[in-house]
Amino acid sequence: MPKYKLEYIWLDGYTPVPNLRSKTQIKEFDDFPTLEQLPLWGFDGSSTQQAEGRSSDCVLKPVAVFPDITRDNGALVMCEVMMPDKVTPHPSNMRATIMDDPDAWFGFEQEYFFFREGRPIGFPPYGFPAPQGPYYTGVGYKNVGAIAREIVEEHLDICLAAGINHEGINAEVAKGQWEFQIFGKGSRRCADEMWVARYILLRLCERYELDIEFHCKPLGDTDWNGSGMHANFSTKYMREVGGKDYFMALMDSFEKYKDEHIAVYGPDNHMRLTGLHETQSIDKFSWGVADRGASIRVPHSFVNADYKGYLEDRRPNSQGDPYQIASRILKTISEVPTP
Ligand code: ADP
Ligand code: MN
Ligand code: MN
Ligand code: MN
Repeated sequence: MPKYKLEYIWLDGYTPVPNLRSKTQIKEFDDFPTLEQLPLWGFDGSSTQQAEGRSSDCVLKPVAVFPDITRDNGALVMCEVMMPDKVTPHPSNMRATIMDDPDAWFGFEQEYFFFREGRPIGFPPYGFPAPQGPYYTGVGYKNVGAIAREIVEEHLDICLAAGINHEGINAEVAKGQWEFQIFGKGSRRCADEMWVARYILLRLCERYELDIEFHCKPLGDTDWNGSGMHANFSTKYMREVGGKDYFMALMDSFEKYKDEHIAVYGPDNHMRLTGLHETQSIDKFSWGVADRGASIRVPHSFVNADYKGYLEDRRPNSQGDPYQIASRILKTISEVPTP
């Protein structure tokens, strides 16, 4: 029986954003293990801000498993953190707050910077490279450098082999900034895949001596773009019934819970949601057809289909927790009655 290397991955208890943690356990299986075959495991929560020293055991409950082609017989095992009773979600476990809905679909667009020694790669040690303009979807050494694309391609291949549903990749507006998109069906699937894709990216960059900067405005109050994580979403009702009245009621609910959304859309978002650089300012809520300066962008296709389809919430930032984002969006939708 082959010995599988099971990398158990979880989120720690740091706030406002959790960090990824992982450790390996070796187990024998006839074939690549199913989720049901994977045992619960534990870790020392006193080292991750999830427990006091005296009673420090937290439980890891596998919730999704992915093949890992970077290791012989490797598996990436996304886990929820549970209390020692094994059934109560730990307070830091935000995945457990997501409403169960197999017909909720999410598409997250993750933007991020490659960083070395506190600067985006491709930035000179002092000062700045040529201003933004040619970098977005650019090609050529002067625009994308020598290693970013190599890492992006390798990341894509590892993710696709894992079964993570990438939908695309692109160089972004700032030098050293990139994006990938993941789409998933089921209220938790896309968020699970996003966390594992982030894990793969961070791990891959270790050997390049690079870090991923997920902060939403790493270059501060400059003309350099910030990073978002647009959340595209739809429910079965939005896709199949929809209609203008339902859409307007939905937008009322999003307006009502504006602050609750911003609270989970990633830290320091006031630096990014300024009303500039294709954003709405943080204290306003608006929607608009094909409007990239709105909080929620309504695709042309949505209006053309008599207000059916998906919507794009442009406010979540690159550092946001996709579990908390999905959880809040579904709560706000659930408050709108469907006839
Ligand atoms: P843009 O950069 O113009 O906003 P992208 O192509 O980067 O567009 O992202 C659009 C996202 O919308 C993709 O991640 C896609 O999977 C997602 N999406 C498409 N259809 C749906 C749907 N019905 N429900 C939820 N998300 C969707
Ligand atoms: Mn995009
Ligand atoms: Mn983008
Ligand atoms: Mn977008």
